Amino acid sequence: SGAMSKNAERTYIMVKPDGVQRGLVGNIISRFEKRGYQLCGLKMRTASRELLEEHYGDLKSKPFFPGLVNFMMSGPVVSMVWQGKDVVKQGRSMLGETDPLKSKPGSIRGDFCIDMGKNVCHGSDSVDTANEEIKMWFKDDEVMDYKLTAYKDIY
Ligand code: ADP
Ligand code: MG
Repeated sequence: SGAMSKNAERTYIMVKPDGVQRGLVGNIISRFEKRGYQLCGLKMRTASRELLEEHYGDLKSKPFFPGLVNFMMSGPVVSMVWQGKDVVKQGRSMLGETDPLKSKPGSIRGDFCIDMGKNVCHGSDSVDTANEEIKMWFKDDEVMDYKLTAYKDIY
């Protein structure tokens, strides 16, 4: 219990412009809800170049970086904060591999896509990265801290 419990781990999940265009937002949210994770933040926006260059800062030297940033700016994305036990690692596993062709059926990418550049969703790759990304994409008061009373046997 309390803010330091393992169950308070949070990750940043984002439906990319292709996922929004294809109407996959509800399906992706549903997977996290059904798994037992708690939605703590949710918003839609078209991201600025500045924010995307910060978000993908570690990829700046990659040849695909300019195309990636331009694609991510091409339309609105849905930004989410999900909370719960081991959510960073489990979230990555629910997304699948970066390359959709290496993603298992049953994962979001394995079910919905075949192109690396249009792989539908983003998920933080570590707890530290998650905390940084949540700070980049959300103001403090946009992330909700609340008890799930209906599921108190789980949480
Ligand atoms: P992930 O999103 O799985 O964490 P990365 O952080 O390595 O993957 O890359 C960020 C995003 O950049 C990927 O989701 C993908 O859309 C794109 N990307 C990564 N590698 C390539 C590549 N070799 N060619 C084209 N796009 C890529
Ligand atoms: Mg990444």
